[in-house]
Amino acid sequence: MSWGLVWFRNDLRVRDHEALLTACLEHAGRIIPVYVFDKRQVGPHARTRLGQFSKCSTPRAQFLVEAVQDLANTLRTHYRGMQLLVYKNALPENVIPKLIAELSTEKQVHVGAVYYHREVCSEERAVEDALRAALCALNQRGELPAVTLRALDGSSTLYHADDLPSGASVGNMPPVFTSWRKLVEKGARIRAPLPMPDPAKVQPLPLSLGCDPIPTCAREVIGDNCEQARLRHRVPWTLPDDATSRVDPRHACPFRGGESAAQERVQAYTFGTDAIARYKATRNGLLGTEYSTKWSPYLALGNVTPRQLYAVLRRYETERPEKKGISTYWVLFELEWRDFFRFTAMRYGNALFWRRGLQAVLRGDPQVAGRSKTWRQDAVLLDRWQTGMTGFPLVDANQRELLATGWMSNRGRQNVASFLTKDLEIDWRLGAEWFESLLLDYDACSNYGNWQYAAGVGLDPRADRHFDVIRQARMYDPEGHYMRRWLPELESCTDWSQVLHLHEHYPEYPAPVVRHLHGGRKNLDDAANAPKCAVRGTKSGSRGRRQTKQTGKPHREPGWMRQAHTGAVDILDNRDGSAALEQNRQTVLDAYLRSQKR
Ligand SMILES: Cc1cc2nc3c(=O)[nH]c(=O)nc-3n(C[C@H](O)[C@H](O)[C@H](O)COP(=O)(O)OP(=O)(O)OC[C@H]3O[C@@H](n4cnc5c(N)ncnc54)[C@H](O)[C@@H]3O)c2cc1C
Repeated sequence: MSWGLVWFRNDLRVRDHEALLTACLEHAGRIIPVYVFDKRQVGPHARTRLGQFSKCSTPRAQFLVEAVQDLANTLRTHYRGMQLLVYKNALPENVIPKLIAELSTEKQVHVGAVYYHREVCSEERAVEDALRAALCALNQRGELPAVTLRALDGSSTLYHADDLPSGASVGNMPPVFTSWRKLVEKGARIRAPLPMPDPAKVQPLPLSLGCDPIPTCAREVIGDNCEQARLRHRVPWTLPDDATSRVDPRHACPFRGGESAAQERVQAYTFGTDAIARYKATRNGLLGTEYSTKWSPYLALGNVTPRQLYAVLRRYETERPEKKGISTYWVLFELEWRDFFRFTAMRYGNALFWRRGLQAVLRGDPQVAGRSKTWRQDAVLLDRWQTGMTGFPLVDANQRELLATGWMSNRGRQNVASFLTKDLEIDWRLGAEWFESLLLDYDACSNYGNWQYAAGVGLDPRADRHFDVIRQARMYDPEGHYMRRWLPELESCTDWSQVLHLHEHYPEYPAPVVRHLHGGRKNLDDAANAPKCAVRGTKSGSRGRRQTKQTGKPHREPGWMRQAHTGAVDILDNRDGSAALEQNRQTVLDAYLRSQKR
C-alpha cells in the first residue's frame, strides 16, 4: 500500500482540510505531512519585485512560524507522534521530489500521490507547475515511480466555485461586488466544514526522517531580511527589536499563529465576549481587540476556513437568539468581499498586479487603455509614508502600528492607501508591496484587490474614492487616543483642531509633506494658507533637479523608478515577465473580449 504525501501551504490546520482528509481516505490513513518555507516567499533574500522590500518581514514570518509549530504539535498529539517534515530556505519543487525518491530507494516507502490545495495567483501556481515538471522529469528518467498530483480546491472560500450560480460563476461574474453578492446570496449554498481525519484511522510513518528542525522564531527563517531591521535605527520613534504584535505593548491584538489560537480567537469574539453582536457598530474602530473580528491573519494562513466561521456564526445565532441582529450578517458580508477578490483573481489572473489594474481589462487593452494615471516618482515621499513621518497624524499612527506589529485596522488601511495614491500620487503597487511585506494577514487577492480599489484602478470605477485623512481623524479618533498611542511626539496633545500645524507646537513631529487635499480635489485656494511643506509635493521630474542642486551630484533613481516609467507599454504589468504569463494575460483578455461581444 502506498503513502499519501500532504503538502501543506496556506492551509495550516487539520480541520476542514480536504487534501488531508482525501489523502487519508485514499491511502488508508498512511500520511506523510510536509511543509516547506519557500525561500522565494519567506527567506533571507526574498524581496518584492518593484520596491525590493523584504517579501515577508518579522511580524508575518513570526506568525507563520507559530502556525507551523502549532500544526506540528497537533499532528504529533492527535496522530500518535506523526512528524511534520519541515524544510527551511528551500523550494517545494526540489524538496518534495527528492524526499519521495529517497523514501522509495532508501526506506522502501512508496509515495503514490501528493495532495495539496490549489492556489490562485501566479507565483503560487508557478510552484505547482514546477513541482509537476520536476516529478515528471524524475519519472521519465526512471528515478521515480509514477506519482499522482492531487490538486484540490479546499475551503479557502466561503462559497465553493462549483456552487456559484451561473450568472456569478468565475467565468461569468459581474465586475461589481454588489451585483455579484446579490446573485450568490440568492443562488448559492455554503458547504459544511469537513471533519478532521479520525485519529484511529491514521497511521504515521513508523520511522523518523531527517529534515530541518522546526523554527522557533522568525529570525531562523528570514535572518535580518526584514523592514524592521532596515528601519529600526532610522526612525525617531520606538520600533522594538522583536517586531511582533504580542511583544509591542501598544498592540491592538496579541496575535499568535496557528489553528489552536485561531479557534480561541473565534470562540472569544463570539461566545466568549459577545463582541460579535456589536460588530456593525464597532467595525471602524482603531484601538483594542474587540472592534473587529481579527480573523483575517488566521484566514490568510488557513488556520481557520470561511466555512468554519460561517458555521460558528449560524450556531451563535441559534444559541444566542437574544443577541441575533444585523452584526453576524455584516461579518458574512465582509467574508463575501474576500471571496469576491479571490474569484476575481481566478478570473482575471495577473491583471490583479497590473499598474493600470483590472480597469485595463474592462476597457479592453492592457497596453493603452485604463486610467492614464502617471504616478509620481518620489523615494523621499514613499519613505516618509512607510516610516510614519508624513506629518498627517492619522496616516503616521497607522503606518507605525503596521511596522511595529504587522497589523492595521480596515479604517487605517483605507486611509493610508488613499493617502499614498491620491495625496502623494505614488504607484499603488509600491503600497501593496509594503503591505505584503508587513501585514500578518497578507493575502495576495485581498491585498492587491483592495489596493486597486483604493487607487481607482479596480473593477468598480465608482469605488475611486479619496479619503480626507484630516476629516477621517476627526470622525474616527476625535479625542486622539489612537494617534497619541503611536505618536510619542504628540503624547501631550489635547487639541487636534489644527492638525496641519502640530509641528509648530511639537517640533519633533514632522511638518506635512504635501498640501492637504480636501475631499478628493486639490484645493488650490488652500495653497497660500498651507503650512510650509517638509518635502514639497512636486510634479515628477522636478524632484530630480532639486536633488541635483542640493547634493551637487546627479540624482540616480532606484531601479524601480526607472523601470516604472518606461513609456506607454507597462513592462512591469506582468508579475514575473515570463512568456507563459504573458500568454495567460492574453488568453484572459481574449476570453473577456469574446464574452463582451456575446
Ligand atoms: C489597502 C488594503 C489592503 C488590504 N489587504 C488585506 C490583506 O492583505 N488581507 C486581508 O485579509 N485583508 C486585507 N484588507 C481588507 C481588510 O482591511 C481586512 O480584511 C480587515 O481589516 C481584517 O480585519 P478583521 O479580520 O478584524 O476584519 P473584519 O472587519 O472583522 O471582517 C471579517 C473578515 O472579512 C474579511 N474582510 C473584511 N474586509 C475585507 C475587505 N475589504 N476585503 C477582503 N476581505 C475583507 C476578512 O477576511 C476579515 O477577517 C485590505 C484592505 C485595504 C483597504
